[in-house]
Amino acid sequence: MTEKKLTIKKPRGKARVLEGKCIACGARCESSCPVNAVEMNEAGEPTIIENKCIGCVKCVKICPAQAIEMFFTAEEQKLLDELMKAGESDDSVDEEADTLAKLLSAYRGVWVFVEQTEGEVAKVSWELLGKGRELAAALGTELSAIVVGHNVGELCQESFHYGADKAFLVDAPVFRYYRTEAYLKAVCYLIDLYKPEIILMGATGLGRDLAGAVATVVGTGLTADCTGLGVDDKRNLMQTRPAFGGNIMATIMCDKFRPQMATVRPHVMHMPERKGIASGEIIRVSCPVIEGDILTKVLEVIKDNNGMEHVDVAGAEFIVSGGRGMMGKDNFKLLQELAHELGGVVGASRSAVDAGWMSHERQVGQTGKTVRPKIYIACGISGAIQHLVGMQDSDLIIAINRDKDAPIFEVAHYGIVGDLFQVVPALTQRVRDMKQAE
Ligand SMILES: Cc1cc2nc3c(=O)[nH]c(=O)nc-3n(C[C@H](O)[C@H](O)[C@H](O)COP(=O)(O)OP(=O)(O)OC[C@H]3O[C@@H](n4cnc5c(N)ncnc54)[C@H](O)[C@@H]3O)c2cc1C
Repeated sequence: MTEKKLTIKKPRGKARVLEGKCIACGARCESSCPVNAVEMNEAGEPTIIENKCIGCVKCVKICPAQAIEMFFTAEEQKLLDELMKAGESDDSVDEEADTLAKLLSAYRGVWVFVEQTEGEVAKVSWELLGKGRELAAALGTELSAIVVGHNVGELCQESFHYGADKAFLVDAPVFRYYRTEAYLKAVCYLIDLYKPEIILMGATGLGRDLAGAVATVVGTGLTADCTGLGVDDKRNLMQTRPAFGGNIMATIMCDKFRPQMATVRPHVMHMPERKGIASGEIIRVSCPVIEGDILTKVLEVIKDNNGMEHVDVAGAEFIVSGGRGMMGKDNFKLLQELAHELGGVVGASRSAVDAGWMSHERQVGQTGKTVRPKIYIACGISGAIQHLVGMQDSDLIIAINRDKDAPIFEVAHYGIVGDLFQVVPALTQRVRDMKQAE
């Protein structure tokens, strides 16, 4: 008979609020608590319910004012003293770590969801295969494409040209149009069967919808709108994204759950070169989803441009953007002329969009589009961080601003300090002259 050693868990302590230090930051401690042990009063200050607190330290770490500390209750202190006297080691902690390591090691491989609409792939999927290739190499694992749809088999081959080693294909009429329920079931089914450690999806309308649903059903973490991805030596995905209104860059990790899921906006990652000759393994998976199980029915597909002008700011090679310095809607004609000469499009800062001068689809920045054009010309835009995160990876940035200290000049390759109403027409004329001289 084997003797089972009885281990006593080392007390972890409880959290408590330090009087007078809370700055009522907006209930970050409350949202961080996994067991609802933090209650907020009307002034936005927390109280910690001692018997609910599990000592996870999350509220202590998140508090921007160091207003929460850990302490041992009298009972816990007594137990600690006894453990110390008995020289008892906290074996339970090692056991927990072992079990977790075993669970996580069952998951291997990097997956990229290949988003397609009627067979046309969203380019962000290829960008993610490029990044996925780097992650898979760092982890010493395979990169796989996930292709879901109807009559979309050739996209598997295309994914090999962009770096995938394998493609999981779920192809049936029920997947012809994107519907959350059907795609959710398909992706969860694949996860259950093949257990990937990382899944990347585009931060498009479809990707955001699907990623959130999948993460909820499989019970894992998801970081949206990442701007940087890497891996650490414990195979954790380091997911970097702007946080707190874009004022800091946070690196988020999901170290206790798998798969690790992230979405990335179009144009944030570099488009990999398409390899001429490529091959890989296609794994056809028959997923048990039938039309009768899906509540949503697609009756008709109505294109969203509806005959109106549609502008693809995110995909443009030349962008002339205007901000509050444009002083009015009509003045954007100046930018339109310059964009026309360059073969580009007009973009806008959020201030210009909020003022009703430009449509939201042209907004560049954190709550607009991320762009990576060959040339970005910022006219009358101050360069707030929320704007910069959307355009700072442009190949060449030219800023025109009458304030020489405007932050936009910190990211600009060329800066023109001057009145845009003089500079922009002069630039347009110069481009016209050059084109005529060719
Ligand atoms: C959560 C959140 C998300 C946000 N998301 C975005 C986003 O996606 N995109 C975005 O752009 N902003 C975003 N913002 C807003 C952002 O913080 C700034 O308020 C905004 O970018 C400022 O726009 P602007 O540069 O056009 O205006 P301002 O900051 O007012 O700058 C106007 C500039 O024009 C210059 N100027 C004025 N007249 C002239 C002239 N005649 N010639 C030359 N220069 C002139 C001025 O010197 C000034 O620098 C967000 C903010 C928050 C809080």
